[in-house]
Amino acid sequence: MGVISQSPDGGVNAGRDPAELQRVLGVPIFPESLERALTHRSYAYENGNLPTNERLEFLGDSVLGLVVTDTLYCGYPNLPEGQLAKLRAAVVQMGALAEVARELSLGSFIRLGKGEEVTGGRDKPSILADTLEAVIGAVYIDCGLTEATALVHRLFDPVIKRAAQLGAGLDWKTSLQELTAVEMLGVPEYTVTESGPDHQKSFRAEVRVGGQVLGAGAGRTKKAAEQQAAEAAWTAISEHGTVGQDNPGQLTMPELPEVETVRSGLDKYVVGRTVDIVTVLHPRAIRRHLAGATDFEAALKGRTFDASSRRGKYLWLAAGEDALLAHLGMSGQLLVGTTDTPHTRIRFTFTDGGEDLRFDDQRTFGHMMLVPGGKDLPAPIAHIAPDPFEEAFDARALAGRIRTKRIGIKRALLDQSLISGVGNIYADEALWLAKLHWARPTETLTGTETSRLLQAVRDVMADALIAGGTSFDSLYVNVNGESGYFSRELNVYGREGQECHRCGAQIRRDHFMNRSAYSCPRCQPRPRRARP
Ligand SMILES: [Zn+2]
Repeated sequence: MGVISQSPDGGVNAGRDPAELQRVLGVPIFPESLERALTHRSYAYENGNLPTNERLEFLGDSVLGLVVTDTLYCGYPNLPEGQLAKLRAAVVQMGALAEVARELSLGSFIRLGKGEEVTGGRDKPSILADTLEAVIGAVYIDCGLTEATALVHRLFDPVIKRAAQLGAGLDWKTSLQELTAVEMLGVPEYTVTESGPDHQKSFRAEVRVGGQVLGAGAGRTKKAAEQQAAEAAWTAISEHGTVGQDNPGQLTMPELPEVETVRSGLDKYVVGRTVDIVTVLHPRAIRRHLAGATDFEAALKGRTFDASSRRGKYLWLAAGEDALLAHLGMSGQLLVGTTDTPHTRIRFTFTDGGEDLRFDDQRTFGHMMLVPGGKDLPAPIAHIAPDPFEEAFDARALAGRIRTKRIGIKRALLDQSLISGVGNIYADEALWLAKLHWARPTETLTGTETSRLLQAVRDVMADALIAGGTSFDSLYVNVNGESGYFSRELNVYGREGQECHRCGAQIRRDHFMNRSAYSCPRCQPRPRRARP
């Protein structure tokens, strides 16, 4: 059992059987050509100077460039040359190629030298990108330009579409409109105010999506202000996944208490049971499991889940020495039951014949992987700081690190390398409880203030945990919807203009990193020197 399986002719470094890759690619390529395309120079040198894939990569680079250029030229007849070039660069850049390669589990097929193997070469963007180009080159040689073109379309049309949506920074208003349409969030609405004398006017724009302000901008023209607001909103939606952050009830990234609720559900319904059959219904759900679906399914069959754990927003189930690691992304759910839904990505049945476990994920940002030796702390998440509920959490050491950061305190609370699991809502609530303004520079905090704040973080999250736990009676584990803070009264978050529960002053909302910060102007006085 392991991430890398052995091939019949060579050692572990020879990668998986290329025939599997050929089936995924769906092209009539010769096995020898595919093998050559998968031969990294590190493997070639260690095995008596075999031919490497570098000449194929050189060729594939041009084939890819031609097909992408042609697609852009025909698909975007109104774009000038400079913007077409920007788009093409975004599509064929290393990171984008590596992502496509990961979707194919290409890393597990590469014939790789020992040195690269031990330093994680199978997931290195440069190696993945080069190998993908070599594969395209080999398809061109064996099957001709028509097959190669069809393959590039299958692999890259979604990338081209995404790059075009982003507009490569061309027109943020259009990009935002396309994104909100794709995400079914409604049409963006702009409000523009102007100020200043005629010869020196300035404009301020705000854009609302689904009724909530997602971006603001300023400029010398109305258009410039709107473009800036659109860019901020686009970033908020696509990168931070924060739609709904200012409007509880809409799609929201689950915060730590929700994930902890899921973990305790797993503990109750899944721990102690032995897996019978695993079925991967969508390859994207295991894209980080490099050895692919067949390996994932085989590796988990017959394993017993011994315990459930969590760090930040990651969950894992220990199985012997290994860990089944899961991240729920934005819309992931773990459900216990007997019926698939249209969004079921992975299904686990158990030898006891009881209810199945399903990983459902409408938007497929979430994923699962098996991490060998990861039962205590899976390596891929070892860099994430402990959260306030872990034994490893050291409040005193953290207080020292926060003070030396010299940033605003809210920004520090959201920094996952300092403390994990604190999202926008809990940060505002904890700061209110500790009577600290969000823009307080960390170096001005006293020891007492810092420990008061860390205690407030624990208290706020513990309350949400208790509330979240109550939605657990039914036989399913659900992170979106009725858990945690949605059902309980918040003190400041989302309460602009309403009375402070402690002093009666009106809660105010400030702009903060493309989002909002809520505070009570009386209980949480703004510091003279504020750090955003
Ligand atoms: Zn107050």
